[in-house]
Amino acid sequence: MKSPAVATPGPVGPGARSERKPMELRVDRERCIGAGMCALIAPAVFDQDEADGRVRVLDPTPSAPHHPTVREAAHSCPAAAIGLLEP
Ligand code: SF4
Repeated sequence: MKSPAVATPGPVGPGARSERKPMELRVDRERCIGAGMCALIAPAVFDQDEADGRVRVLDPTPSAPHHPTVREAAHSCPAAAIGLLEP
């Protein structure tokens, strides 16, 4: 007789490693000059307002896979309008 398949514990559950707290980002729309670098570099997180071209944040707490491009966008912003709060 075949023994039933046994499920092994996956990456979720009481003993699982907790996900890091997501980074938080803030933008200063008054400083933004609408250069669009952020939306080009990290389009999942930033967009530009169709009315005035200034930055719009699509995701103020981006998950870990987006952190490298968000950091690059912040460093590339010619107006230094993007601030990052990292855990
Ligand atoms: S890169 Fe900076 S200046 Fe350009 S749209 Fe984004 S926040 Fe504004």
